[in-house]
Amino acid sequence: MKIGKQLVPGLSGIALLFSSLVLMIKGYKVIGLRSIDLPSNWISLHPGMKPSSVETIFIKRKEDTISFAKKLLEGKKVYSALKDIIQDILISPIAIGYYLIGRFVFAKSFIASKDCTRCDLCVKKCPVNAIKIVDNRCFWTHKCESCMQCMNICPQRSIETVHGFIFGISYLVYAVFLVWLYKLLSIENLANLYFAEGISNSFLFIFDSVVFLFLLFLGYRIMHFLLRFRLFERLFVLTSLTTYKFWRRYKPSKKYMKITTEEKHATSQPQ
Ligand code: SF4
Ligand code: SF4
Repeated sequence: MKIGKQLVPGLSGIALLFSSLVLMIKGYKVIGLRSIDLPSNWISLHPGMKPSSVETIFIKRKEDTISFAKKLLEGKKVYSALKDIIQDILISPIAIGYYLIGRFVFAKSFIASKDCTRCDLCVKKCPVNAIKIVDNRCFWTHKCESCMQCMNICPQRSIETVHGFIFGISYLVYAVFLVWLYKLLSIENLANLYFAEGISNSFLFIFDSVVFLFLLFLGYRIMHFLLRFRLFERLFVLTSLTTYKFWRRYKPSKKYMKITTEEKHATSQPQ
């Protein structure tokens, strides 16, 4: 991230540790561990960064990557990522939470607007094959990990996160449906009757979450059906923050993704 003129270090979480573990299990020797923080692309949560900020981060990280590669090629061992290990382990619940929320909540907020030309680029490029075509329209399945690549690469900028749908469903489930259901079935009394106090609260939390996820899935199906009608399509699109111009898409700086001949030479010639 870049806040003002400051580059704020990102958090690699346990991703780096997991990938090293996988490599070690496969018999590789891990001689270097270093996080390279790239611009955040979580555009369901925040607007894409300004192109100038993306470029600044790319320039800096390209230098870091080349210097890291040079050290490894010189035979040095570099484990600079290990200094963040405590912080990485501490934030691991966020990573697990994001894994679940990304898969079961954000994935059910993606739609393709009327601007979609069915080029199917998003379908072909999704790393986990999470987008299906249902009724001639893109449909995001639970395989989706909310990496947001599809939204960022769509040439028509037609993929939206329908924030209005998520807020609307959350309100209906928690403030209306569950209140009614609790009264109707005296769920709280039942939970207190069958479980000890701490366990009954956990049971109620799990119960609420299951009801929410079920109704969200149902709501997503209904939204997908309604998208064929222009009025509903507009309603959903206009309640998506991602549709507005100020909510930019993330564009990687292609210029800095390439490595020049001089840089290639420098990293392949250890001194
Ligand atoms: S990449 Fe965009 S235009 Fe192409 S199929 Fe996907 S949503 Fe539609
Ligand atoms: S967000 Fe990522 S995982 Fe989900 S459908 Fe798009 S490209 Fe696939």
